Amino acid sequence: MSNQHWRERDLAALWHPCSQMKDHEWLPMIPIRRGRGVWLEDYDGHRYLDAISSWWVNLFGHANEHVAARIAEQARELEHVILAGFSHAPAIELAERLTQLAPPGLERVFYADSGSAAVEIALKMSFHYWLNQGQAEKTRFVCLSGSYHGETLGALAVGDVGLYRDTYKPLLLQPLVVPSPDCFEREPGQSWAEFSVERFRDMEKLLAERHSEIAAVIVEPLVQCAGGMRMYHPVYLERLRQACDRYGVHLIADEIAVGFGRTGTLFACEQAGIRPDFMCLSKGLTGGFLPLSAVLTRESIYQAFYHDYEQLKAFMHSHSYTGNALCCTAALATLDLFEASDVLADNRLKSKRMRERVAELEDHPNVHEIRQHGMILAMEMGRSDGQPYPWEERRGIRVYRYGLEHETLLRPLGNVVYFMPPYVINDEEIDQLARVAIEGIHQATRD
Ligand SMILES: *Cc1c(COP(=O)(O)O)cnc(C)c1O
Repeated sequence: MSNQHWRERDLAALWHPCSQMKDHEWLPMIPIRRGRGVWLEDYDGHRYLDAISSWWVNLFGHANEHVAARIAEQARELEHVILAGFSHAPAIELAERLTQLAPPGLERVFYADSGSAAVEIALKMSFHYWLNQGQAEKTRFVCLSGSYHGETLGALAVGDVGLYRDTYKPLLLQPLVVPSPDCFEREPGQSWAEFSVERFRDMEKLLAERHSEIAAVIVEPLVQCAGGMRMYHPVYLERLRQACDRYGVHLIADEIAVGFGRTGTLFACEQAGIRPDFMCLSKGLTGGFLPLSAVLTRESIYQAFYHDYEQLKAFMHSHSYTGNALCCTAALATLDLFEASDVLADNRLKSKRMRERVAELEDHPNVHEIRQHGMILAMEMGRSDGQPYPWEERRGIRVYRYGLEHETLLRPLGNVVYFMPPYVINDEEIDQLARVAIEGIHQATRD
């Protein structure tokens, strides 16, 4: 069966995520028959280096033997059981291991099945905590400009990427949006730290004025991924933690994309030495095998819900597949792989190599910035007069097509070309990735 065969059947029956399906009249969709390590292979035998970890989920390669074997073994024992009133070893062990790895003081784990669901849970828990404490007026959430927290209505509401949000605006909660510390906006000569501190003033002012109605601030620590891999300095998180303590507001760290080593530390919050009140995890949690998410929180927040039934203070939230045994097993197997070798140290060398291999783009008139936090490296394309390319030109898609023709899956976010590869990428593969990105950017910015 060829690509063409599957393409035709696909287009007759499927509706794909985050896609204008009409684009597939000229942009062929690619049916994949198998994955191995960083490689994907289609039905015509072409291969693609998965430079974006299949939407940032894969950590240790496609079809990783260890994870696959653990899931298969678990599937023959117990695939799933209701998690209300019942429990099982994978869910318990995973909760124990996550609380040991997370910043100290995050002692409770609540499971769900997607990143968006985790964000919904953190928002509801925060609001509900204050309600249980007699502070019903805390109903507002604060988020950063350019932020992204998922696409169900609650998660979408606290995001600020117009492409996803604007259409649904009449349906959404109204968050308080504060300018992001996104260092792409800093003045020439200004350091990341200086700019991030300067941008904190707006947050400080808002919290000072309106903390009595604010339940929580939600942020993506260090990298605003879907908003264009925009990055900032950890000092912003330090200041934010202090201010949230001072004003009695929760801090929700959405580590769904940046968790599990992406920024160089296991969790991005570690670089600021902070403990959030809620930490949302998903994506890399299962090494990219199965959908699972977790919200970690403090014991004292858990205790605010722990009362006699008649007080009606329990957190009555659930998803059918909460804490699925196969998903939890995939996550445990992924944590085994973190323990089996010094992944973070190896990644430091890989990050360095990724950066060195794109150094020649520093002087390119259409590359406005090359930025990096650990295993996330982004290159911002723009016009030679310093202005961004208009979105209608779809420069990113040119890089995408160039990549596919050269055995590489790059999926730029607008004008931003980025690498976020599985950690099993080797030196030779990094070199290929860089060569293809450089040539793709040359082609996409010509004219
Ligand atoms: C992907 C993502 C989400 C949403 O996760 P889904 O599993 O796609 O619902 C939330 N927050 C951040 C920061 C993300 O990158």
